[in-house]
Amino acid sequence: MIIKARTVPRIILELEALLRRISKDHPKIPQIERELLKRRAGYKGELQVDYFLSLLPEEDFSIFCDLNLALKKRFQIDTLLASRNFLLVIESKNISGKIRIDPKTDQMIRTYREIEEGFNNPILQAKRQHLQLKNWLSKNKFPPVSVEYLAVVSNHTTLLDTSHTDPQVFKKLILAESLLEKIEKLQSKYQNPSLTKVRLHSLEETLLKDHQLPHNDILKKFDISKDCIIKGVQCPDCQCFSMSRISASWLCPHCKKRSKTSHEQAILDYFLLINTSITNRQCRDFLCTGSSDVVNYLFKKMNLLSEGKGKGKNYFPSECQNKIPAYNSLNLPTL
Ligand SMILES: [Zn+2]
Repeated sequence: MIIKARTVPRIILELEALLRRISKDHPKIPQIERELLKRRAGYKGELQVDYFLSLLPEEDFSIFCDLNLALKKRFQIDTLLASRNFLLVIESKNISGKIRIDPKTDQMIRTYREIEEGFNNPILQAKRQHLQLKNWLSKNKFPPVSVEYLAVVSNHTTLLDTSHTDPQVFKKLILAESLLEKIEKLQSKYQNPSLTKVRLHSLEETLLKDHQLPHNDILKKFDISKDCIIKGVQCPDCQCFSMSRISASWLCPHCKKRSKTSHEQAILDYFLLINTSITNRQCRDFLCTGSSDVVNYLFKKMNLLSEGKGKGKNYFPSECQNKIPAYNSLNLPTL
């Protein structure tokens, strides 16, 4: 059963918002586009793994997608399967071409169109997450439970180069199509429950409670100043940023498009790029509109959460505005 469903990763939403709101000739655009391509490919891989997991009997596993948990430093798990008998950490990789793990350096090397390229070793990534999860379980006072880990290559056209890789590697690095078979083997290996039903339920609740949306600070990551972010309400048709508030809707001076909801994207862009909260004054400045009554009305219509009073009152996105459901994977790239 899916306990925590997958939504579009926040980093993808931030990168998309950043590309919307910097000038088309900004020198960082190629770097941001590369990062977005990489993140979308990774996300596509996760969705492909989700497909195979959806074929598991509902009652056997609790499935958590994209967990971000707290230790000294927060750590992220692509997918976690939890049962009373064992837990399984899955790291997915969506890479084309032929891949091998160099036995001397432990690096993953991909050969694609006769070009060799190094990638992070997904087995080591999964192993690190499994160790972090064990520490997290102990910190949260759960009884010892077996934790397994797997790196799953989601692209079925990827070739695993068995002739140049230690065969032991393929116990932990598998193709997504083998995932269900591998899980069956783990079920045979762990036949005795380590967790009672009550403890498993408590684990599910603690995982959900501890999960937090990652804070990426995308402007800092790309060393882009807030001043480079284009303010204003974007026209959904011609993409210019100069829609004006006229007669209770937004009007584009260029293409004459009218919209009642274009401010919503602008306010969500503010949350993705500038700050996790906004005041009435900050919103007026960002939307380039003068009326505080209009902004109060827009906040109310968007059902934003709020804290404080008067001029210092801060508004926040609600839980569902922080996430958008999974995209269709068909239009996403492969690296
Ligand atoms: Zn327009």
